[in-house]
Order: sequence, then structure tokens, then C-alpha cells
Amino acid sequence: MSAAMVDLKAVHKSFGSLEVLRGVDLQVGAGEVTVIIGPSGSGKSTLLRTVNHLEKVDSGSVTVDGELVGYRRAGDRLYELSEREILRQRTRIGFVFQSFNLFPHLTVRQNVTEAPTSAQRRPKAEVEALAVRLLERVGLSDKIDAYPRQLSGGQQQRVAIARALALEPKVILFDEPTSALDPELVGEVLDVVKDLAVSGTTMIVVTHEIGFAREVADTVVFMDEGRIVERGTPAQVLDAPRHERTRLFLSKVL
Ligand code: ADP
Ligand code: MG
Repeated sequence: MSAAMVDLKAVHKSFGSLEVLRGVDLQVGAGEVTVIIGPSGSGKSTLLRTVNHLEKVDSGSVTVDGELVGYRRAGDRLYELSEREILRQRTRIGFVFQSFNLFPHLTVRQNVTEAPTSAQRRPKAEVEALAVRLLERVGLSDKIDAYPRQLSGGQQQRVAIARALALEPKVILFDEPTSALDPELVGEVLDVVKDLAVSGTTMIVVTHEIGFAREVADTVVFMDEGRIVERGTPAQVLDAPRHERTRLFLSKVL
């Protein structure tokens, strides 16, 4: 695939003597949704974090929309980008965490407008109008001037998604976006993610929500012990897994 929006090649990452990513190759095409499943500790979060250089790879490469992440190539050498360049790069890679990570002292509106105005230096009026549209899209028009502490977990996570969208990212990474939510709030967040999928947003979603994966994923990837064990359509991986480890994992989460 030449036009992959996200392209990981032979990515290795260790923490001390623990090899957490053992040669991961992953391509996500523009407009595609890849869902990553796998046991706790298999390297899913670390993999997502390499995509925006929150973790530096030890070897291999990460490319987003044709741009090498975290490094500049000069001849056959690689030089790490400056902190400032890394921050610029990160503004085009949305990240939605399990724990929402909203700014507690800012209103919902300010949470959404902060980065586009300060990091991207876009005109305030344009960003304000965008925030209104995005908060409407995630069903939170009535909470626009509330503070995060006044919202439910599901509402906070929807604000976090609107905040990611405001940066007009090339790709949005979701790391277990519903794991911290009470069960009755999971659906409202997954509905927003589904809406993004339908509208062609490129996404990588780590989740244990197998029903969601079946419905939304173009590709499901099963990871174990730092490797991609198998990948395919939801029907292939979820309904007819070829590997025993995948079967065992699915038998525990389904
Ligand atoms: P997953 O998201 O699949 O549960 P992680 O990527 O969070 O897995 O972690 C994979 C392994 O790497 C785990 O054994 C974890 O303890 C370890 N790990 C993750 N981050 C660090 C870190 N910053 N320092 C040391 N070990 C880490
Ligand atoms: Mg994780």
C-alpha cells in the first residue's frame, strides 16, 4: 500500500531489558479504521504512543501522511526533530486517552479551542465557530460553558473527542476510550466514534469492545507479546481466527 496514512515499519521498542514491541508492521489507509485488540501488557498502548512520538522507537520507522514521525532524514542518517517540531507534528495526530485528560480549569468550549488557537495559531473566530459545530456533533451543545467536573465520564470523553477533531488531525488514536466509563455510558461514546468512522476519519482504536470492532473496523489486529499475531477483516479475525492465541483471547472477552 503506497498511500497509507499511517505506516509503521519493523518497529522495535524496549524498556530496559523488556522488549515491548518486537517488529511491528502496520499500515492504515486514509479513511480506514483499524481496531487493535489483545491482552493487557501486549504493547497496544506503546504502539499507539509511537505514532505521535510519545515513545521513541528503538528501530524501524513511523510515517504519518508521508511524513516521518519524530525524525528528519539527511542522507542515510536520522536526526531527531526539535521539541517544537515534534509538537507541531503532534497537532495533526489526535489522541484520545482512557482517562479523558481534559483541562479541569477550562470550560468545555475552552478545552476545544485551546490548542487550535495557541498551537496552530488559527483565527479565534474561526476556531470558536468550529468548536460550536463539533460540540453539536458530539451532542454537547448544552454543555458548552460547563466545566469538566460538571460532566459525566461519557460527556467528558465526548469533549475529548471534539477537542481532538478541532485540530483537524490526519488520524485519531484512541486508547481504550471507554474502559474508564460506567457501562451505561459506553454506548454514547462508541456512537460518536462510529459516526467518525462513517464520515471517513482515519482511526486506530485500541478497545476490548468486540461488538464495536465487528461493526466499525475495516481491519482488526490481534497483538500478543509485542507482535501482531494476526490481522484481517472483523469476520476473519473475530469469527474465524487462525491462531490459538487469538481464540483463547476472544474466548475470555466475548
Ligand atoms: P497494553 O496497552 O497492551 O496493556 P503497554 O503497551 O501499556 O501494553 O505495555 C506493554 C509492556 O510494557 C508492559 O509490560 C508494561 O508494563 C511495559 N511498559 C509500558 N510502558 C513502560 C514504561 N514507560 N517503562 C517501563 N515499562 C513500560
Ligand atoms: Mg494499554
